[in-house]
Amino acid sequence: MRRRKMLRMLGLAPLAGGAVLPGSASAAATSAAAFKGRDYFAELGVRTFINAAGTYTSMTASLMRPETMEAIRYASRKFCMLDELQDRVGERIAAITHAEAAVVTSGAFAALTIGMAGILTGKDPARVRQLPKLEGTGMKSEVICQKGHAIGYNQALTNTGVRIIMVETREELERAIGPNTAALHFLHINADRGRIQHEEWVAVGRKYGIPTTIDIAADVPPVSNLWRFNDMGFDWVAISGGKALRGPQSAGILMGKKNIIEAARLSMPPRGETIARGMKVNKEEILGMWAALEEFVSIDHDKEYQLFQARIDRIKAAAEAVKGVSTQVSHPKLGNCTPTLNITWDAALVRQDGNQLREALRKGDPSIEVMGGKDNLSITAWQLVEGEDRIVARRVREVLEAAAKA
Ligand SMILES: *Cc1c(COP(=O)(O)O)cnc(C)c1O
Repeated sequence: MRRRKMLRMLGLAPLAGGAVLPGSASAAATSAAAFKGRDYFAELGVRTFINAAGTYTSMTASLMRPETMEAIRYASRKFCMLDELQDRVGERIAAITHAEAAVVTSGAFAALTIGMAGILTGKDPARVRQLPKLEGTGMKSEVICQKGHAIGYNQALTNTGVRIIMVETREELERAIGPNTAALHFLHINADRGRIQHEEWVAVGRKYGIPTTIDIAADVPPVSNLWRFNDMGFDWVAISGGKALRGPQSAGILMGKKNIIEAARLSMPPRGETIARGMKVNKEEILGMWAALEEFVSIDHDKEYQLFQARIDRIKAAAEAVKGVSTQVSHPKLGNCTPTLNITWDAALVRQDGNQLREALRKGDPSIEVMGGKDNLSITAWQLVEGEDRIVARRVREVLEAAAKA
């Protein structure tokens, strides 16, 4: 039982009829071994790698847990009505997250678009069809956010036709609010780059009767962030399903006030003539998202953090063994909350730059992806499969040593 729980935590529990080969070289190799099936990536010539970078979209973000895959396989064998499944799964997700309602979307980005659509249209089907055209429809057209919260993902909001108004101070915020204000949007991961914090943001929304919304896409763990912002009174919350939650990469959750979630769903499939008809989630992703969430809230997050820390300590020690190399470990508090190792070096002693070192790691066997810039390597351990920290530690030391001799 303990072993199973441990394996489950590591995403390594054997699947029905499959066997795990301990110490497999990479995440991809491990899952291929677990399925004992066709090696599709090898057949296609698609490179697989150890992910010591993090939950990056381009790197396919995370590996799904066996429980998620079981739910996906289950769903693939049976028909059901799409809306009925969303209703029932939404109730379960809402209960876990303290929201009035929830719906599985095709990622956090889609959750932002669909959530904003719900605020704009309400439950008026004519308005649903009119998006993203707002002019002359009677719909509001402005979303206010803090300057420090302005990121490319705001495109998800402007896709509904709204424009973003930037403010910095509380005074500016209150001055910017007017008859066209549809919502006040907050980006949790950038909370420290804005002057107005969550509670005040919600309070201003309440004062003027304007919905407040929040993007927490990459911001669990801590697990409590799943309900913290619903409890705080945000009208909706958008989160990625495929990052730390380890659900399908193409899934996410929109959760919040019942009226708005119901309105948002009018823009979602199976309904057509809507801006989100193309943001479809299938029954496999819906069930997989729920299963992933259930697993995520059931695991011991303190233990998991310690596990990630131990892996990082091992890699850190290996890197430091090379003369001229320095390391620092940081603990991000707002998003991507996992021990993060920063490796730097004295360029007179280690004579390769970050790009060259990353290329060496990438070209090695097994291939390893890490992050960083020209002067550093940045490594996380939360997407590693059991045993891979040893491989990363050895390879990091090898490439640094080779660069020291160059
Ligand atoms: C990753 C991310 C998104 C997009 O999430 P998807 O689930 O990939 O659609 C949106 N906002 C922020 C802040 C993110 O980090």
